[in-house]
Amino acid sequence: MSFVEFLGASPSAYHACAEVARQLREVGYQEQLETEPWDSTPGGHFVCRDGAIVAYHLGEVGSRFAILGAHTDSPGFKLKPRPQHSSYRWSQAGMEVYGGPLLNSWLDREFGLAGRVVLSTGEQRLVATDPWLRIPQLAPHLDRSVNDGLILNPQRHLMPVYAVGVRSLKSWKTPRAGTSGTSGNSDFRPVVDTAGVDIIQALAEVLGCAADEIMGHDLFAYITQPPEYFGVDKQFLAAGRLDNLSSVYPGLQALIAAEPSIGTIPVLACFDHEEVGSETRTGAGGTLLDDVLTRICLGLSLTADEAYQVRARSQMVSADAGHSIHPNYPEKHDLDEHPLMGAGPMIKINAQQRYTSDGPGRQLWAAICAEAGVPHQVFVSNNAVPCGSTIGPIASTRLGIPTVDVGIPLLSMHSAREMCAPIDVEYLTQALTVFFIG
Ligand SMILES: [Zn+2]
Repeated sequence: MSFVEFLGASPSAYHACAEVARQLREVGYQEQLETEPWDSTPGGHFVCRDGAIVAYHLGEVGSRFAILGAHTDSPGFKLKPRPQHSSYRWSQAGMEVYGGPLLNSWLDREFGLAGRVVLSTGEQRLVATDPWLRIPQLAPHLDRSVNDGLILNPQRHLMPVYAVGVRSLKSWKTPRAGTSGTSGNSDFRPVVDTAGVDIIQALAEVLGCAADEIMGHDLFAYITQPPEYFGVDKQFLAAGRLDNLSSVYPGLQALIAAEPSIGTIPVLACFDHEEVGSETRTGAGGTLLDDVLTRICLGLSLTADEAYQVRARSQMVSADAGHSIHPNYPEKHDLDEHPLMGAGPMIKINAQQRYTSDGPGRQLWAAICAEAGVPHQVFVSNNAVPCGSTIGPIASTRLGIPTVDVGIPLLSMHSAREMCAPIDVEYLTQALTVFFIG
């Protein structure tokens, strides 16, 4: 599956996990349920916990872990528990801001809802709707100062519309054969509904259940416009969720491709909730990876001391998208380091430890990229422009495993539609394959 196809299959963190699991099953990996006894059979295994997944490949022995960390979530909007709003006969959806999106980038774009719905039976269903929603920007005629700087109140100005006045049932549902009624045109019947159109009812129709069977949901906005290559030489790819599927996909391809050296256990850990701080049961600050590593060691019948030795020999690479130099804002970068899109994955360095890469980490990443035959670059912040953080410091602090922070350069990071150079995704895949081989 190509990177673009992977993006299409992964509109939410839950979908990304399901797609990673599907690809792993195809090459013989077995799902390990956390509620079941641990299976230590040599071969591939994976554990899913909501929007996070940890996959690993066991040999006969295990003397160290080679861990690739990434995250499945992206900043945007999450549907509120009771999303139904109507105002002046517009139907609108109440949404909470998730993480730190570039708010303006979501204006005037069509988007759908993707994620999971929980039914009254407890069953969880993944769903991704058509483009239902849009946050229309106010015309400049009604705000003459808009181009001096757009100010958006996230509660008032970001509520998307999804219907107005009348409803064409056709837009939600194709009628089942033989149910179109005797009027001959019932699926186009206009309904004047002054209370607005119920978005939960529309979801129920997509799921084929009753609205009152939907007891909970974790649904996020996703851009429905397909990814597109652009540039005169098609050097660029525009898509939503490049942060951080541009690391999940290379990690998955590398895990599938790598034949690790004896004793090395390659581990792919894709966490949720990075964009909101990682301190959750499926985030890098939670127990998920710790639990899996511990149970692998127990399953291999290692003593407690031997398990500590395995961890002490281990290495983690934390991959998360970073910033290419922006030609319109070069002053935002360090004077000496200008990482460029298309010129290879970056190692990310920060004295304040918002990235974990240190001297030994630099040596390791340079050696990995040299062996893979791919270029690499350095990112270090301008002192006047403090950088963001990522899962590396959080996972490394929890596990005590040395970690290198890397990632491919993006522009428009945290936009609804980011851009990258696909060659960097290929470079990162090759480098991570070398890392997993050990
Ligand atoms: Zn990220």
